[in-house]
Amino acid sequence: MTGAAPITQDVLTIPRKAPEGGKTNIVGLTRPALRDALIAMGTPEKQSKMRVNQIWQWIYQWGVRDFHAMTNLAKGYRAQLDAHFEIALPEIVSKQVSADGTRKYLVRIAGGHEVEVVYIPETDRGTLCISSQVGCTLTCSFCHTGTQKLVRNLTAGEIIGQVMLARDDLGEWPEPGVGTGENGPRLLSNIVLMGMGEPLYNFDNVRDAMKIAMDGEGIALSRRRITLSTSGVVPEIAKTAEEIGCLLAVSFHATTDEVRDRLVPINKRWNIETLLNALREYPKNSNSERITFEYVMLKDVNDSDADARRLVKLISGIPAKINLIPFNEWPGAPYERSDWSRIESFADILYKAGYASPIRTPRGEDIMAACGQLKSATERERKSRAQIAAESGTG
Ligand code: SAH
Ligand code: SF4
Repeated sequence: MTGAAPITQDVLTIPRKAPEGGKTNIVGLTRPALRDALIAMGTPEKQSKMRVNQIWQWIYQWGVRDFHAMTNLAKGYRAQLDAHFEIALPEIVSKQVSADGTRKYLVRIAGGHEVEVVYIPETDRGTLCISSQVGCTLTCSFCHTGTQKLVRNLTAGEIIGQVMLARDDLGEWPEPGVGTGENGPRLLSNIVLMGMGEPLYNFDNVRDAMKIAMDGEGIALSRRRITLSTSGVVPEIAKTAEEIGCLLAVSFHATTDEVRDRLVPINKRWNIETLLNALREYPKNSNSERITFEYVMLKDVNDSDADARRLVKLISGIPAKINLIPFNEWPGAPYERSDWSRIESFADILYKAGYASPIRTPRGEDIMAACGQLKSATERERKSRAQIAAESGTG
């Protein structure tokens, strides 16, 4: 496979600290980690908490990227920070804007890998769909990302960095040093962890990044405006309630273990019953209202009236919202989207059972930005190059 970089299954997270002589990236450090790093640099312990507050506000409330612009710090201290640290974000490689206003960013992270980030404007909100891994180790059969092998976990800095980049592009940082960010509605008001990857297989980095997003003196998004979507990594669900406390969405997609085993293979490890037991505990542990059940509508696979009725029965007793996702096709996908009339009949059964069940309108389809269509171009390219090499016998 000449020319194709190896793709491994190893879950690697690159260390936050740059090698010998390099600078430490501040973006992604939690408050305690930042405090430790400042003390290690020589900041007197007594001052360290205040310095964390100041630096934090510059970076996360005002979006400042240059230590020299942090005017409430002494000039010498700014220079010292600059010598030890950097404020580094992933790089936007390209941006596509859909006819419906959806923006898809291709973002390059260390190592040359790429992830996709999608911004979806709506009348009353703006949602950013972020990625937690390059690729995914799971292999849900209807998901494009699942056809791409996992390359690595994103660092906390790369995860929160996606939010910061989007705010840059939307021009949404309040005026440095004075703005409060409280004037007017927010363009980026919600975050969903529904991009590439399984967030609960990168728990610590996702948690640290979301703590930064929720911090009241920075980006300040309420935990009720952050939704983490999981395919059902049961042991991490209780931890999510305790340590993040955001809203939870679950890729449910089937009403029998037989079908769910095929669609969401992690079901073989934690089946529907085990998953539902964990979900029952989530609302009270996280003090949140409802769990979102995501259900992708696949023609003749999981879309019958009997499925709708089974779904209602299975989730009874769990405060829930159901999100029907018309399947988004991708090249070579082994499924078709259910017919519209079928989706409506399915929705009607849920509605009559008391669930307002919005059918999710696919957004940004013309730029392959819809759910499950994400798969970074470099990895696509790599795979096809590898295929070409194999076919031509040079691999
Ligand atoms: N790994 C996590 C989060 C990312 S996927 C998870 O699986 O929940 C985000 C959502 O998009 C999931 O509900 C997923 O099942 C859904 N999805 C994946 N591929 C899709 C496709 N082709 N069409 C519609 N939805 C899809
Ligand atoms: Fe991974 Fe989620 Fe896609 Fe499944 S649906 S392969 S868990 S990204």
